[in-house]
Amino acid sequence: MSRTVQRDDDSRAHRVADTFRQLFGGAPDGVWAAPGRVNLIGEHTDYNDGFALPMALPQTTLLAARTRTDGRLRLHSAHGGGGTTELAVAELAPGAVPGWAGYPAGVVWALAEAGHPVGGADLHFDSTVPSGAGLSSSAALECAVAVAYDELYGLRLPGPELARIAQRAENAFVGVPCGIMDQMASVCCTAEAALHLDARTPEDHRQVPFGLEGRGLRLLVIDTRVTHDLGDGAYAALRAGCERAAALLGLPALRDLPAAELPKALPALPGDLVPLVRHVVTENARVEEAVARLREGDVAALGPILTAGHASLRDDYRVSCPETDLAVTAALDAGALGARMTGGGFGGSVIALVEAGRESAVGGAVTAAFAAAGHRPPHLLEVTPAAGARRLGPPAGTR
Ligand code: ADP
Ligand code: MG
Repeated sequence: MSRTVQRDDDSRAHRVADTFRQLFGGAPDGVWAAPGRVNLIGEHTDYNDGFALPMALPQTTLLAARTRTDGRLRLHSAHGGGGTTELAVAELAPGAVPGWAGYPAGVVWALAEAGHPVGGADLHFDSTVPSGAGLSSSAALECAVAVAYDELYGLRLPGPELARIAQRAENAFVGVPCGIMDQMASVCCTAEAALHLDARTPEDHRQVPFGLEGRGLRLLVIDTRVTHDLGDGAYAALRAGCERAAALLGLPALRDLPAAELPKALPALPGDLVPLVRHVVTENARVEEAVARLREGDVAALGPILTAGHASLRDDYRVSCPETDLAVTAALDAGALGARMTGGGFGGSVIALVEAGRESAVGGAVTAAFAAAGHRPPHLLEVTPAAGARRLGPPAGTR
């Protein structure tokens, strides 16, 4: 970890611990951090039992937490609209907790449901992960709770199990039918690496070296500020379409269709399912190709793979939007080695792989293209592959 990141973590940990004291009185038992993520390649593949290649962001959700013995759960977020939500752990039920508090409460519910001996806590969150930007602030929020509870209640669950618990909170408690990629990235990523995820067997994930600086490369995130809403049914409809296609092909999941068999399989499917299947199968192949190139140390070779992935999401899966398409085109025109939308789509963020020194030219070109098209200015972030969820504190001398 760089010294700057360490210093930032320390001072943020102090700040959330201070706010915790003001809110709840007394010091937290500890401070935990869980990152947002970008997915390099492998989009809409996780719920098809397929592959993905996310990396954790330096942007994190911090959680100052302290256990309670009375079964109460008190939740406060610097980004939660001001008030403190108070709940009884024993009364948690899917759909019963509206708004942001459903995500952390859902994790406590999912742990209890899975038979783990968990009780109440006071929890205060503060985050630098942009919310609703396709960078997985929801998984960061959930995974912060999962790792904190794991330690506070002595559960010692493996990372992929914590990710499963967090995913179950989002699926069953909040009601968003997401796959497991976001939570796996937030829990299991390591610095300077991307996570090669096989969604069928998350416990077999592998770290793939992804050092950008040494290769003279940079990764830009362009947040289009178009808010996606994965709860609006589009995501669920796509997922259902994939499941229908797999059933028609007699396969457990689309992951089981090798790319070489696509030409034979596609004509047998109803027309509306053809582009969905083509995307998922070619996208899985792109993940495997990206991993092979990174293992050879050829990070720049990722560029064309990213761009091909975007074309597939735009033309076949149809989850891009004018703003993400424009960000990709403008970045490529300004010399990016590759670019694609990342995350579920319908807005959100674009990643662009650029040569060091070209960051401002590419960022500036995207901003200018947005202005010319009458879109709100995008937010630009430069990111490096960061560590997954971890304990930061308590800061020395504060207990
Ligand atoms: P994404 O995960 O791409 O950021 P989502 O729509 O899945 O977008 O999740 C965003 C939601 O997660 C927010 O609307 C809010 O309810 C919740 N959320 C995320 N981070 C925080 C936070 N630090 N404090 C309060 N709520 C948060
Ligand atoms: Mg989310």
